[in-house]
Amino acid sequence: MLLDLGKLIMKNLRLVLGILIVAVVSIYFACPWVSGTPAPIVAHEAAGLFPLQGSTVEITYIANEGVLISAGGKQVLIDGLHREYQPAYAFLPAAERENIETAKPPFDKIDLILVSHMHLDHFHPESIGRYLHHNPKALLVSSQQVVDEVEKNFKDYQSVKGRVIGATPSWKEKVAMKVAGIDIEILRLRHGAGRHANIQNLGHVIKLGGKKLLHIGDADTAVENFDEFNLDEEGIDIAFLPFWFLLGAEEQALVRDHIRPKQIIAVHISPGEREKTTAQIKQAFPNALAFTTMLEKKLY
Ligand SMILES: [Zn+2]
Repeated sequence: MLLDLGKLIMKNLRLVLGILIVAVVSIYFACPWVSGTPAPIVAHEAAGLFPLQGSTVEITYIANEGVLISAGGKQVLIDGLHREYQPAYAFLPAAERENIETAKPPFDKIDLILVSHMHLDHFHPESIGRYLHHNPKALLVSSQQVVDEVEKNFKDYQSVKGRVIGATPSWKEKVAMKVAGIDIEILRLRHGAGRHANIQNLGHVIKLGGKKLLHIGDADTAVENFDEFNLDEEGIDIAFLPFWFLLGAEEQALVRDHIRPKQIIAVHISPGEREKTTAQIKQAFPNALAFTTMLEKKLY
């Protein structure tokens, strides 16, 4: 019997060796620590999902200041449709960018697209146009500058025009509206002064899933930019804040006194500085989160 087994193995030696080689090679390439590839900056689908009890809102980090908010069967995308602008800022790799621009799952259910301002690390007119074209139920609400850019640069603008709404309140003023069944407030917050003084920068308060979420684009950190809005009394649950709001003493005071969010999520963090910046943020706000892995998700 033993002899028979030995004979059998010898007879099929080449087959056995072949299977062993395939197994070893597969294991080698499946292990990132062996092949030496850098840590992924794009999460695969379920990564980062931490279901909290009673969580009602799912947030997906897209890139730079881009976030997708999902709750109660509604989805809002803010600053999530842009392309490579400066390599210093995060942008989706080509395949994922194509998926979102052509409204492929899981990006096929966005009801409302918001854009804080026209800078290309937040917005690309063709990306927006393509998304609207591929998802005929999606609406765009943004500043007149953003609307004008889409009209100028997206060749099929006429086919999506009916779903584009311009809303540009004056500085320190806000407008409330219900679009696609979603309650939003648009806050005109000045972009930094100097060469960006003419940029129409919009903040957004979005009410979804029983939560209030705040996104401020690239707002100037001056107190006078915020104090008219009394955000500290709004009961903001989640605030997406550019990381520079969390580092300096004056900016930290602004966040604590004039925004007072229950949860801070830092955005606009350069991929090359993710570790350093995240550590600095945690020093001042230990409970803050920092979005640095594209397509990671959080539940609230
Ligand atoms: Zn900007």
